[in-house]
Order: sequence, then C-alpha cells, then structure tokens
Amino acid sequence: AAGALVVSLAACSSTRTTTPAASGGTSSKGALVGIAMPTQTSERWIKDGAAIKKDLEALGYKTDLEYANNDIPTQVQQISTMITKGAKVLVIASIDGTALSTQLDNAAAAGIKIVAYDRLINGNKNVDYYTTFDNYKVGVQQATSLLTGLGILDDSGKETGKKGPFNVELFAGSPDDNNATFFYNGAMDTLKKYIDDKTIVVQSGQTDFKTVATLRWDPATAQKRMQDLLAKSYSAGAKVNGVLSPYDGLSIGIISALTAAGYATNALPVITGQDAEVGSVKSIIAGQQYSTIYKDTRKLGKEAVTIVDNLLTGKKVTVNDTKSYDNGKKVVPTFLLQSVVVTKANFEDVLVTGGYYTDADLK
Ligand code: BGC
Repeated sequence: AAGALVVSLAACSSTRTTTPAASGGTSSKGALVGIAMPTQTSERWIKDGAAIKKDLEALGYKTDLEYANNDIPTQVQQISTMITKGAKVLVIASIDGTALSTQLDNAAAAGIKIVAYDRLINGNKNVDYYTTFDNYKVGVQQATSLLTGLGILDDSGKETGKKGPFNVELFAGSPDDNNATFFYNGAMDTLKKYIDDKTIVVQSGQTDFKTVATLRWDPATAQKRMQDLLAKSYSAGAKVNGVLSPYDGLSIGIISALTAAGYATNALPVITGQDAEVGSVKSIIAGQQYSTIYKDTRKLGKEAVTIVDNLLTGKKVTVNDTKSYDNGKKVVPTFLLQSVVVTKANFEDVLVTGGYYTDADLK
C-alpha cells in the first residue's frame, strides 16, 4: 500500500534474548509457531487456521494449531502449553481480548513474539503486531448495505429520497471482542442521521451497545433476543423492515426467529451479516439474508504468516496503520486489509471467480 510504514524488528526487540531456533544454528526455519483460534463453530476460523498452518509449514515452520471452543480457560491453557513447548511466535485470535495478560507476560519473558490475529488483545504491552480487516469500515459497509437494501440509498450510495419510516432492529457482537465495538460504531455512525430524522425507527428503543451485544457471538442468543423483540415491540402488527446483524451466524438465528413468528421466507426484512459463510451465501442466493461482508481469510492468513516469517528471520515488518488500534497499553502496529460487501448481485464475481467457493459449494 502506498505510504506503508515500515517498523524495524531491531527497534522493538531490544529486550529480547535471542535463543537459537529449534532447528539449530541462527536460522529460525523449523521453529515452532503456536496458532490459537477461538472456535470451530464458525467456518471462518476453520479457514483461517488452515490457511495459516499450511502457509507456515510451506515455509518450513512447525505449527501447533489449537481451537478453544469459545472457552476462555481452554484458550489460556492452550497458550500456556505452546509457551512450554518452545514456540517462538504465537498467533492469537482471542476469545476475550483482556483475558490473556499473564500468558503474554510469560511469553514475552521467554522472548516469544505475539501477533494478534483479527482480534486485538487488550491491556498488555507485549502485543508486537496486529493484522485484521478494517473493522470500523466493516461496520460502515454493513450499515450501508442495510440502507441500500431498504432503498434509502441507491447502488452508488446516493440517497433516493425514500423516507420510510422503516422499522429496524440492531444487533452487535460479543462485548469482550474488541472488533464488536468497531463494527457497531462504524454502523451507528452511518445510521445515525437516518435514526435522527426518523427515516429509521428502532421500535424496541434498544440502541445502546451493551443492550444489543451478543455474548460470544452466539446464534441462539441472537435468536432468543429477536424472539423477545418481536413479542415486545411488534405484537400489535408492525413489521420489522431491517435488521443490522454483525455476523452470519447471528443472522441465521435472527431469520429463524422471524420465520417462527410467521414471516414468509420471501418477505423477510433486509438482514446483514459478516464472513460470507457458506450457509449464509446460500441464504443470500435464495433471497433470505440480504448481504454479508466478505473477508478473504486466505489473505489475512498470508499476512499473518508474512509477519511471523519476518519476525523469525530478522526482517522488517511492514504495517499500514499505526494509529487505530490502541490496546490500552500501546498503539499496536497493524496491517489492515479491506473487506467487500457481498449481495445476490455480486456473489458470483467476488466469491466464485475469486476462488473462495466453487459453484458446487453454493448449491
Ligand atoms: C471477526 C468476525 C466474526 C466474529 C465472530 C470477529 O472478531 O472479526 O469476522 O464474524 O468475530 O466470529
């Protein structure tokens, strides 16, 4: 990227004691890299983990890839074990961004480098690098697609003059995931104007992040909340026209609540999502979910591997953001990737031509 900043490893490793790599000599090839992923209940993390493992092994590194079932003590234990096994770098997609401080301190004391993967780790100075998608922009994209789906904006992002009012309900992600606030802020900054002028009405009145957040991104929790919203705010006959959903798994739960309450599958509200998970892309093709945000996990995996390889071979690490991600102890040097809005109109071009899925995957 133009204007990319380069941070030298030497500049940030002054306190690091260099230990010879497991393979011996000064080369770090063959070193062990720990990959800590949150859960296998969502496809994206399976793809992320597989991509990182494959690319690291292709470069000659050993890997320890672990999934923690969205359970914080399990992730803590897995990271401790990676440290004991002698990992030289840890790539961590945290469950709770604030729960890993002891492990990070232990890792740093052993000279291990930490790369926060997709989700920032908060409250600890030992996070060396971070790579993710532009999370605020993901939220802007989700809200913009909601506005387009409702017909408030046209495809080029211009206002059509449609004033609704449209009934919209809002969902956010897990409060312990740093990304969730970024997504929600990006979305709400985009929707605010339309909520203020009453083009959009949140019948439930629930707009506060804490109220609309969904612990651990759990689809069943979102389904239950949607059921409650329908019972409390829509029993007199008002219809929901749109739902801001931050993740495909939640969108599936939300759709289940709506169909259970009598919404026909061809007359669902405009519902957003994130991750382009296969079931949700099928739902988009079938005209149920309206949009998702595609994040190419192969690219994010490659970026993480590039950072790891540069760290282990003493090369410069390139980042392109040194201001957005303050974890409370430091602003973590970050490499940001860009996400893409996917709807029925462009899934073929973006996902199939782009090689993320085959046509057969989406049948
Ligand atoms: C990721 C999203 C994902 C969500 C739930 C977030 O941290 O950035 O891509 O949808 O977690 O897994």
